[in-house]
Amino acid sequence: MNRPLFLLLLLFVSTLALAQAACEFCKGGLEVTTIRYRDGQPHPVCSKCRTTLPACALCDNPSPGKAYRDGRHICPVCRKVGMFDKGRVAALATQVVAFMQQQLGPEAKSLPPIQLVDLDEMQTKFNESGRSVDVVAFYRPYNPEMVYLLSGETEIESGSHLAHELTHAYESRACPQQDRALTEGFACWVQYHYLLSKGATAEAERITRHQDPDYGPSLVKLLKRSQSLGRDKFLQAVKKARKVEDV
Ligand SMILES: [Zn+2]
Ligand SMILES: [Zn+2]
Ligand SMILES: [Zn+2]
Repeated sequence: MNRPLFLLLLLFVSTLALAQAACEFCKGGLEVTTIRYRDGQPHPVCSKCRTTLPACALCDNPSPGKAYRDGRHICPVCRKVGMFDKGRVAALATQVVAFMQQQLGPEAKSLPPIQLVDLDEMQTKFNESGRSVDVVAFYRPYNPEMVYLLSGETEIESGSHLAHELTHAYESRACPQQDRALTEGFACWVQYHYLLSKGATAEAERITRHQDPDYGPSLVKLLKRSQSLGRDKFLQAVKKARKVEDV
Protein backbone atom coordinates (compact mmCIF):
# COMPACT_ATOMS: atom_id res chain seq x y z
CA MET A 1 0.00 0.00 0.00
CA ASN A 2 1.44 3.45 -0.83
CA ARG A 3 2.10 5.86 2.02
CA PRO A 4 -0.54 8.60 1.39
CA LEU A 5 -3.26 5.99 1.03
CA PHE A 6 -2.12 4.31 4.25
CA LEU A 7 -2.21 7.64 6.13
CA LEU A 8 -5.65 8.37 4.79
CA LEU A 9 -6.84 4.97 5.94
CA LEU A 10 -5.30 5.53 9.37
CA LEU A 11 -7.05 8.90 9.63
CA PHE A 12 -10.35 7.31 8.64
CA VAL A 13 -10.04 4.51 11.20
CA SER A 14 -9.03 6.85 14.04
CA THR A 15 -11.90 9.25 13.24
CA LEU A 16 -14.25 6.30 13.41
CA ALA A 17 -12.78 5.26 16.78
CA LEU A 18 -13.13 8.83 18.09
CA ALA A 19 -16.70 9.06 16.86
CA GLN A 20 -17.49 5.82 18.69
CA ALA A 21 -15.86 7.06 21.86
CA ALA A 22 -17.84 10.33 22.13
CA CYS A 23 -20.42 10.46 24.89
CA GLU A 24 -23.93 10.56 23.48
CA PHE A 25 -25.06 13.23 25.94
CA CYS A 26 -22.15 15.67 26.44
CA LYS A 27 -20.08 14.67 23.34
CA GLY A 28 -17.08 14.35 25.65
CA GLY A 29 -14.65 11.47 25.40
CA LEU A 30 -13.71 10.80 29.02
CA GLU A 31 -13.85 7.08 29.92
CA VAL A 32 -16.70 6.33 27.58
CA THR A 33 -18.37 2.95 27.95
CA THR A 34 -21.62 1.69 26.52
CA ILE A 35 -24.87 1.25 28.43
CA ARG A 36 -27.78 -0.79 27.14
CA TYR A 37 -30.98 1.27 27.19
CA ARG A 38 -34.56 0.06 26.71
CA ASP A 39 -34.30 0.08 22.91
CA GLY A 40 -31.87 -2.83 23.31
CA GLN A 41 -29.05 -0.75 21.79
CA PRO A 42 -25.70 0.09 23.42
CA HIS A 43 -25.32 3.86 23.99
CA PRO A 44 -21.89 5.48 24.64
CA VAL A 45 -21.88 7.41 27.94
CA CYS A 46 -18.86 9.04 29.63
CA SER A 47 -17.90 8.59 33.28
CA LYS A 48 -18.91 12.17 34.15
CA CYS A 49 -22.44 11.71 32.79
CA ARG A 50 -22.66 8.36 34.56
CA THR A 51 -21.98 9.94 37.91
CA THR A 52 -23.65 13.35 37.59
CA LEU A 53 -26.84 12.75 35.60
CA PRO A 54 -29.96 11.69 37.53
CA ALA A 55 -31.10 8.08 37.11
CA CYS A 56 -34.01 7.48 34.73
CA ALA A 57 -37.11 6.57 36.78
CA LEU A 58 -37.93 3.81 34.30
CA CYS A 59 -34.61 2.17 33.33
CA ASP A 60 -32.27 3.50 36.04
CA ASN A 61 -29.70 4.62 33.43
CA PRO A 62 -28.21 8.17 33.28
CA SER A 63 -30.88 10.58 32.08
CA PRO A 64 -30.00 14.01 30.61
CA GLY A 65 -32.31 17.00 30.19
CA LYS A 66 -35.26 18.38 32.10
CA ALA A 67 -37.53 16.22 34.24
CA TYR A 68 -40.83 15.00 32.76
CA ARG A 69 -43.94 17.06 33.67
CA ASP A 70 -44.75 14.81 36.64
CA GLY A 71 -41.27 15.26 38.14
CA ARG A 72 -39.81 11.93 37.02
CA HIS A 73 -36.46 11.93 35.25
CA ILE A 74 -37.07 9.92 32.10
CA CYS A 75 -34.27 9.32 29.60
CA PRO A 76 -34.73 10.04 25.85
CA VAL A 77 -34.88 6.34 25.00
CA CYS A 78 -37.62 5.62 27.54
CA ARG A 79 -39.54 8.67 26.28
CA LYS A 80 -39.39 7.14 22.82
CA VAL A 81 -40.23 3.50 23.64
CA GLY A 82 -42.55 4.20 26.59
CA MET A 83 -46.34 4.47 26.50
CA PHE A 84 -47.07 8.19 26.82
CA ASP A 85 -49.61 8.53 24.04
CA LYS A 86 -53.34 8.02 24.74
CA GLY A 87 -53.96 6.78 21.20
CA ARG A 88 -51.24 4.17 21.51
CA VAL A 89 -52.68 2.99 24.84
CA ALA A 90 -56.19 2.80 23.36
CA ALA A 91 -54.91 0.59 20.53
CA LEU A 92 -53.10 -1.65 23.03
CA ALA A 93 -56.21 -1.82 25.24
CA THR A 94 -58.34 -3.02 22.30
CA GLN A 95 -55.81 -5.76 21.68
CA VAL A 96 -55.69 -6.83 25.36
CA VAL A 97 -59.49 -6.82 25.67
CA ALA A 98 -59.73 -9.06 22.58
CA PHE A 99 -57.26 -11.44 24.23
CA MET A 100 -59.32 -11.44 27.47
CA GLN A 101 -62.57 -12.20 25.63
CA GLN A 102 -60.98 -15.02 23.73
CA GLN A 103 -59.59 -16.44 27.01
CA LEU A 104 -62.49 -15.81 29.38
CA GLY A 105 -65.61 -15.61 27.25
CA PRO A 106 -68.70 -13.34 27.44
CA GLU A 107 -68.15 -11.95 30.97
CA ALA A 108 -65.06 -10.20 29.63
CA LYS A 109 -67.29 -8.27 27.20
CA SER A 110 -68.10 -5.21 29.32
CA LEU A 111 -64.68 -4.35 30.72
CA PRO A 112 -64.12 -0.85 32.14
CA PRO A 113 -62.30 1.98 30.35
CA ILE A 114 -58.57 2.53 30.77
CA GLN A 115 -57.01 5.85 31.71
CA LEU A 116 -53.36 6.66 31.15
CA VAL A 117 -52.01 8.75 34.05
CA ASP A 118 -48.72 10.37 35.05
CA LEU A 119 -47.08 9.62 38.40
CA ASP A 120 -48.57 12.60 40.27
CA GLU A 121 -52.11 11.72 39.10
CA MET A 122 -51.54 8.06 39.95
CA GLN A 123 -50.56 8.97 43.50
CA THR A 124 -53.66 11.17 43.86
CA LYS A 125 -55.93 8.36 42.60
CA PHE A 126 -54.31 6.00 45.03
CA ASN A 127 -54.84 8.25 47.99
CA GLU A 128 -58.50 8.48 47.02
CA SER A 129 -58.72 4.71 47.40
CA GLY A 130 -56.96 4.92 50.75
CA ARG A 131 -53.87 3.03 49.64
CA SER A 132 -50.35 4.33 49.43
CA VAL A 133 -48.08 1.86 47.65
CA ASP A 134 -46.15 2.52 44.46
CA VAL A 135 -47.98 0.91 41.57
CA VAL A 136 -47.87 0.97 37.81
CA ALA A 137 -51.53 0.03 37.35
CA PHE A 138 -54.66 -0.48 39.42
CA TYR A 139 -58.33 -1.32 39.12
CA ARG A 140 -60.92 0.85 40.84
CA PRO A 141 -64.26 -0.98 41.05
CA TYR A 142 -66.56 2.08 41.30
CA ASN A 143 -66.95 5.90 41.11
CA PRO A 144 -66.11 5.52 38.25
CA GLU A 145 -65.10 1.95 37.46
CA MET A 146 -61.70 2.37 35.79
CA VAL A 147 -58.30 0.84 35.18
CA TYR A 148 -55.48 3.33 35.71
CA LEU A 149 -52.20 2.78 33.91
CA LEU A 150 -48.99 4.68 34.70
CA SER A 151 -47.42 6.36 31.67
CA GLY A 152 -43.98 5.43 30.39
CA GLU A 153 -43.84 1.64 30.73
CA THR A 154 -42.93 -0.36 27.62
CA GLU A 155 -45.73 -1.75 25.46
CA ILE A 156 -45.22 -5.30 26.73
CA GLU A 157 -45.22 -4.14 30.39
CA SER A 158 -48.32 -2.01 29.85
CA GLY A 159 -50.16 -4.87 28.10
CA SER A 160 -49.17 -7.23 30.87
CA HIS A 161 -50.44 -4.86 33.60
CA LEU A 162 -53.66 -4.22 31.69
CA ALA A 163 -54.30 -7.97 31.42
CA HIS A 164 -53.82 -8.27 35.20
CA GLU A 165 -56.04 -5.32 36.16
CA LEU A 166 -58.76 -6.12 33.60
CA THR A 167 -58.90 -9.60 35.11
CA HIS A 168 -59.85 -7.96 38.43
CA ALA A 169 -62.71 -6.23 36.58
CA TYR A 170 -63.73 -9.61 35.13
CA GLU A 171 -63.57 -11.19 38.61
CA SER A 172 -65.81 -8.49 40.07
CA ARG A 173 -68.42 -9.57 37.49
CA ALA A 174 -67.96 -13.33 37.21
CA CYS A 175 -66.63 -14.44 40.61
CA PRO A 176 -66.76 -11.71 43.28
CA GLN A 177 -66.65 -14.24 46.14
CA GLN A 178 -62.94 -15.09 45.73
CA ASP A 179 -60.39 -14.45 48.47
CA ARG A 180 -57.22 -12.40 47.84
CA ALA A 181 -54.98 -15.36 46.97
CA LEU A 182 -57.36 -16.59 44.27
CA THR A 183 -58.14 -13.06 43.00
CA GLU A 184 -54.46 -12.19 42.60
CA GLY A 185 -53.37 -15.69 41.57
CA PHE A 186 -55.93 -15.79 38.77
CA ALA A 187 -55.08 -12.24 37.61
CA CYS A 188 -51.46 -13.42 37.42
CA TRP A 189 -52.61 -16.52 35.53
CA VAL A 190 -54.23 -14.38 32.80
CA GLN A 191 -51.24 -12.00 32.80
CA TYR A 192 -48.89 -15.01 32.46
CA HIS A 193 -50.77 -16.28 29.40
CA TYR A 194 -50.91 -12.81 27.87
CA LEU A 195 -47.12 -12.58 28.12
CA LEU A 196 -46.70 -16.06 26.60
CA SER A 197 -49.01 -15.06 23.73
CA LYS A 198 -46.59 -12.16 23.08
CA GLY A 199 -43.55 -14.44 23.21
CA ALA A 200 -42.36 -12.77 26.44
CA THR A 201 -41.36 -16.02 28.16
CA ALA A 202 -38.82 -14.51 30.57
CA GLU A 203 -41.34 -11.90 31.80
CA ALA A 204 -43.97 -14.62 32.25
CA GLU A 205 -41.55 -16.74 34.27
CA ARG A 206 -40.74 -13.73 36.44
CA ILE A 207 -44.35 -13.55 37.71
CA THR A 208 -44.16 -17.15 38.91
CA ARG A 209 -41.30 -16.02 41.18
CA HIS A 210 -43.22 -13.06 42.70
CA GLN A 211 -42.48 -13.01 46.45
CA ASP A 212 -46.00 -12.30 47.73
CA PRO A 213 -47.62 -15.72 48.41
CA ASP A 214 -50.92 -14.48 46.91
CA TYR A 215 -49.13 -13.76 43.62
CA GLY A 216 -46.19 -16.06 42.70
CA PRO A 217 -46.97 -19.21 44.73
CA SER A 218 -50.72 -18.82 44.03
CA LEU A 219 -50.01 -18.60 40.30
CA VAL A 220 -47.79 -21.70 40.39
CA LYS A 221 -50.61 -23.72 42.04
CA LEU A 222 -53.15 -22.46 39.49
CA LEU A 223 -50.85 -23.27 36.56
CA LYS A 224 -50.60 -26.86 37.81
CA ARG A 225 -54.39 -27.08 38.13
CA SER A 226 -55.02 -25.64 34.67
CA GLN A 227 -52.57 -28.12 33.19
CA SER A 228 -54.29 -31.10 34.79
CA LEU A 229 -57.89 -29.92 34.29
CA GLY A 230 -57.56 -28.42 30.82
CA ARG A 231 -58.42 -24.77 30.20
CA ASP A 232 -62.24 -24.95 29.95
CA LYS A 233 -62.74 -27.03 33.10
CA PHE A 234 -60.18 -24.90 34.91
CA LEU A 235 -62.03 -21.66 34.08
CA GLN A 236 -65.34 -23.18 35.22
CA ALA A 237 -63.70 -24.24 38.49
CA VAL A 238 -62.19 -20.78 39.07
CA LYS A 239 -65.62 -19.15 38.66
CA LYS A 240 -67.14 -21.33 41.39
CA ALA A 241 -64.16 -21.33 43.75
CA ARG A 242 -63.60 -19.12 46.78
CA LYS A 243 -59.97 -19.99 47.34
CA VAL A 244 -57.09 -21.52 45.38
CA GLU A 245 -57.57 -24.92 47.06
CA ASP A 246 -61.16 -25.15 45.70
CA VAL A 247 -60.00 -25.06 42.08
ZN1 LIG B 1 -20.98 12.61 28.88
ZN1 LIG C 1 -34.77 5.28 30.75
ZN1 LIG D 1 -53.87 -7.61 41.32
